[in-house]
Amino acid sequence: ARLISDCIAALNRHEGALAALAMTDTVRRGQDGMAGETIPRDGLWRAQTPQAFRFNAILAAHRQAAGADYTDEVTVAAAAGMEVALVEGDEDNFKITNAADIDRAERMLMQGGEMRTGMGYDVHRFGPGDHVWLCGVQIPHEAGLVGHSDADAGLHALTDAILGALGAGDIGQHFPPSDPQWKGAASDMFLAHAAGLASKAGATISNVDVTLILESPKISPHTEKMRARISDILGIAKERVSIKATTTEKLGFTGRREGVAAQAIATLRFR
Ligand code: MG
Repeated sequence: ARLISDCIAALNRHEGALAALAMTDTVRRGQDGMAGETIPRDGLWRAQTPQAFRFNAILAAHRQAAGADYTDEVTVAAAAGMEVALVEGDEDNFKITNAADIDRAERMLMQGGEMRTGMGYDVHRFGPGDHVWLCGVQIPHEAGLVGHSDADAGLHALTDAILGALGAGDIGQHFPPSDPQWKGAASDMFLAHAAGLASKAGATISNVDVTLILESPKISPHTEKMRARISDILGIAKERVSIKATTTEKLGFTGRREGVAAQAIATLRFR
């Protein structure tokens, strides 16, 4: 924000502004793999972004430069005779070019912030039907799951886990079962809503872990598809999504195949 504000402020006095850092390393021109001549670093700057201009001026410069091979907009502006001021850049405002740059960016983003976790639990009863929805995936089955929406206990538990980490109540408060508009609703909408609230709160979802508790249908053939679906809805890498399933050794309501239960935990990082 500081960089962008400084660049905009510089436009009060100049036709363009360039965030840049004074060169502190010794610069050499290599020659056939050998350290050739030293280039005096006095007055050398490393150009960064942002590069700020008034829109009409930079548009005209681009039109004038059409076809030329320039590496940044300051070069385009300079070619059009515009004068561009230097604005103090920031080492943390680095360019992502190589894989190592992404590692550096990730390390930076991991620093600081506060982790918060939430948990969710949901149950749905089996009823007539020929398929169930679990963790966003449709699975053929000798029964269906009964619920106001698509009865996806996995996504409901996960939605509650994210709402829990946000301190934002539960799924029933956001999507009241009394409201006819959620009848038969696909539960990915509920999860996407929770993910949207997380992003609005400035939180990123670090990882989620769902355990489905049921005797059947068998979940293992579907876990990869479930992970992909949830990673899609949440906009996070599949490696950050875990799906597990367990039976209860024929004990209790899940053991008697009366219904399915799901537990979920979500970890969010706040900045
Ligand atoms: Mg539910």
